[in-house]
Amino acid sequence: MTTASASPRGVAILGATGSIGTSALRVLGRQRDRFAVRALTAHASVEAMAQLASTWRPSFVGVTNPNGTPTDAAWRTGPGVLSEAATLADVDIVLNAVVGAAGLGATLAALRAGKRVALANKESLVAGGELVTAAAQERGGELIPVDSEHSAILQCIAAHPTSSIRRLVITASGGPFRDWDERRIAGATREDALRHPTWSMGRKITVDSATLANKALEVIEAHFLFGVPYDRIDVVVHPQSIVHSMVEFSDGSVVAQLGVPSMELPILYALTHPERVEDGGVPRFDPVASSPLTFEPVRAAAFPMLGLGIAAGRAGGLAPAVFNAANEAAVERFLAGAISFGDIPRFVERALEQEAAGSVAGSRPTLDAIQGADLRARRSVMENS
Ligand code: NDP
Ligand code: MG
Repeated sequence: MTTASASPRGVAILGATGSIGTSALRVLGRQRDRFAVRALTAHASVEAMAQLASTWRPSFVGVTNPNGTPTDAAWRTGPGVLSEAATLADVDIVLNAVVGAAGLGATLAALRAGKRVALANKESLVAGGELVTAAAQERGGELIPVDSEHSAILQCIAAHPTSSIRRLVITASGGPFRDWDERRIAGATREDALRHPTWSMGRKITVDSATLANKALEVIEAHFLFGVPYDRIDVVVHPQSIVHSMVEFSDGSVVAQLGVPSMELPILYALTHPERVEDGGVPRFDPVASSPLTFEPVRAAAFPMLGLGIAAGRAGGLAPAVFNAANEAAVERFLAGAISFGDIPRFVERALEQEAAGSVAGSRPTLDAIQGADLRARRSVMENS
């Protein structure tokens, strides 16, 4: 356990107006001795940002897409504000809580500037896995997961070397359609998909949790974060969302991390890792009240996005970026009421096939190549019908 340091560590929150951003600000409100909020960004929520700015008084406020809405003259605007906020001299930790591959540039910029990146924005690691891990290794930055499963794995691994890991077991709530049959799932409405049984989150990740695309993104995320090959990463359904993931070691011992389903716990840990600090913001875990804890296999045929995503991860090269971008576009269309729930995997599969026909498999992609593949995948989904 540590005591508060003399000078608080500076934190930038990219995507401060979102679900993770809001949870992070609750955590930081309780930890003002240790951390100071130095930069906040939003995309289009100018009014919400004005409220945050007056509460937190950060020295940097950025809005990526104000959409013509007038902003405070002191604020920075435009897509460049993410990387600007991520590299400020008085910022030590960048919490990337932006949604989508739009967060990739900022993840890279922060790591290259030697910052700790507390990464909620899994899409940036999926799209640019090799680039991101190389930036973390080469430039002295640190990549610490915020995603609850990966925070769990980090905590389970502790000081053990990668060679002692036999298997990662990532848990999945199963989402709102865990026990629906395939036909019913294909016709699910937006309201059905937005009704998550255990977590309250932004709309995009909530839909990803209903298709299980989120779990595919998390398998790829785990592969890059922990350097574990795909054939040693398993997924198991655990409807209570209490066991956040497990690590099986070479001696057969399995270590799991448990806790109430609140993102405040992994957010705090990403800020303080490897230390633990006093914090009482989340209800304490009660094993009896949480009983029973159950586990079941994933119904792969009912949730094709999981298999598609893991196959893209295994294919490597640009395939994970294509899977991610196609999924982002398909979810956007589904949320706009333009396509059915069952269209999401169909359109993503089509985008992956189109890209596979024209790309070089297994090559180490550059940022340009990733952005090109991302655009092609989005176009493929937008033009599909
Ligand atoms: P939200 O949709 O609630 O929030 C997204 C945030 O990013 C908002 O501040 C939004 O600004 C901003 N934003 C949206 N689009 C862009 C863009 N193109 N460029 C820059 N900023 C943008 O999402 P969540 O908080 O749920 O998720 C954020 C990330 O964390 C995602 O990658 C998600 O997968 C991951 N994550 C989330 C969890 C959760 O519990 N919510 C759990 C684990 C991971 P504005 O408000 O102005 O639109
Ligand atoms: Mg997760």
